[in-house]
Amino acid sequence: MEIVYLLNSGFMVKDENILMLFDDYEDPEKIVDRAVGRGNFEYLYVLVSHAHFDHFGTHIRAYAPQTSRYIFSNDIKHTKRVKMFPSENITFMKKYSEWEGAGLKVSTYDSTDVGVSFLVETASGKKIFHAGDFNWWDWYNDTPAQRMLAEKSFKRQLKKMHGLEVDVAFFPVDGRLGESQERGVTEFVNQVSAKRLIAMHRVGYPAWRPSRRFLESAPEDMKIWSPTDSGEKLVVS
Ligand SMILES: [Zn+2]
Repeated sequence: MEIVYLLNSGFMVKDENILMLFDDYEDPEKIVDRAVGRGNFEYLYVLVSHAHFDHFGTHIRAYAPQTSRYIFSNDIKHTKRVKMFPSENITFMKKYSEWEGAGLKVSTYDSTDVGVSFLVETASGKKIFHAGDFNWWDWYNDTPAQRMLAEKSFKRQLKKMHGLEVDVAFFPVDGRLGESQERGVTEFVNQVSAKRLIAMHRVGYPAWRPSRRFLESAPEDMKIWSPTDSGEKLVVS
């Protein structure tokens, strides 16, 4: 499996003959254009976790002729931008729903922001989790009541993922949260067993260097990747 970082929470993933885009809102290096141009895939799935501008970019409509299916969270249905897409080729997914197409199974979980997070299983058996904006959003400037609510809703939804085992998990480690940036991911990797954790949603911040506290509580054999430059690539066996 080959994974290329696009920007923010945007990634291109290729597993055998399946090409997947997750939250490709901007692709400054035109990585996807080139991959689509090469055409060495049988299926192209374009997934978007929610309508926020930093996750959902309309340039992905250019891939419509090659796209097997656009898989959008349900909130995108209510945007104006979605009218630019061929409606017969979109599946809208609500939280806790499932969809299956050629070579791909998708199920959704809830987010703590808008939209969903995705669990994808490819025909080769690879499991990929993409959190979207699911995270413990613990902002300093929030009131204690807001912070408590953020914690509660995060932990409530995380419980439903308990015991999941995935090959790759994309999860926000947002530098803007300062000292709280690891709170969500720390809880996450203790509930979901991921062979490889990929940090995302940290544009403008250097690569995440996990703290000692994080590493002590995380599973020992889990590998971590924190890309910073669009075009960085990782090959996962
Ligand atoms: Zn976001």
